[in-house]
Amino acid sequence: MNNLTILGLETSCDETAAAVVRGLPPGPGQILSNVVFSQTEAHAPYGGVVPEIASRAHLEILDGLIERALGDAGISLDEIDAIAATAGPGLIGGVMVGLTTAKALALASGKPLIAVNHLAGHALTARLTDGVDFPFLLLLVSGGHCQLLAAADVGKYRLYGTTMDDAVGEAFDKTAKILGLPYPGGPNVESHAARGNPRAYALPRPLLGRAGMDFSFSGLKTAVRQLVTQNQVNIDDACASFQAAAIDILRDRTAHALARFREDFPDTPRPALVVAGGVAANAAIGSALAKLADQHGFEIRVPPPRYCTDNAAMIAWAGLERFALGERDPLDVSPKARWPLDASGDNRHSGERQQSA
Ligand code: AMP
Ligand code: MG
Repeated sequence: MNNLTILGLETSCDETAAAVVRGLPPGPGQILSNVVFSQTEAHAPYGGVVPEIASRAHLEILDGLIERALGDAGISLDEIDAIAATAGPGLIGGVMVGLTTAKALALASGKPLIAVNHLAGHALTARLTDGVDFPFLLLLVSGGHCQLLAAADVGKYRLYGTTMDDAVGEAFDKTAKILGLPYPGGPNVESHAARGNPRAYALPRPLLGRAGMDFSFSGLKTAVRQLVTQNQVNIDDACASFQAAAIDILRDRTAHALARFREDFPDTPRPALVVAGGVAANAAIGSALAKLADQHGFEIRVPPPRYCTDNAAMIAWAGLERFALGERDPLDVSPKARWPLDASGDNRHSGERQQSA
């Protein structure tokens, strides 16, 4: 098969993005262009993403971003094989803007449409960047999601665990807000944590040591709030103590998933542990997980931060993987606020992004 060239659109949260990707499964692929406009500034005054502001912003700038993505790639719409767009899960207004734009382009150009699951985009990024083979274990840690999944093949995911309340990035953002640090909180908490004492404050680690692979972060966030209302806290120490607790939770749950993956896929000698989503940019979390993966005989793969946070290259690639299998979607495909990767799995927090403001 010849190389495929796919235009991808992403509008499920507060990043508006368009990209052109070329290649063939299993990757790696070539990223011909990757344009991302982050709406962070528009949402910063509210300390979290405001859905109405997000969808309006997507609507205003998406057309221009598509033109730039095609221009940067040096190709015209004619040379594209298919148009892929996030169809969920996410903030429904934003998803509608991106998917409707993709439908209009598909109709006007006569090119096929691929409706992509945003989580599949995150899951398959390590194939785009590193050509990682199936099966692999995915830890998806972002502002809207915290999940452990076995990726057996394109469209074949087994949900091992998910958060029962907040996503880990959300916990970082809320902790930052409680401590008076600017949004988005994750990177700010990490840089303060680097200067603080992780044992300064005793914070809870929900579910630690218990069986299973689910996550819970809301008790940790509440404990930070109590700490701040009852004491004069040192910000660096509070960030370091919070981050240490978050790392302990991630490490404990992931260790169970590594063992479970071994049972489910005994014939994969050195599988990959792929860490994706915005929180994968956290160096302390990355090194804790790298050590854990190594102890269990897994190869850790963390795609570069610009492909870990929301972007359209991952959506184009996920579309490419499905297109290569002959899959297409009809022009009346619906946007979905919720769309779990593992339809048979437990649907608690199956992927709808929560408004974090
Ligand atoms: P995403 O939802 O994939 O776009 O990622 C955004 C989320 O990742 C937000 O919740 C950020 O606070 C979080 N994040 C980004 N960088 C870091 C970091 N260095 N440490 C912790 N969280 C981070
Ligand atoms: Mg995301």
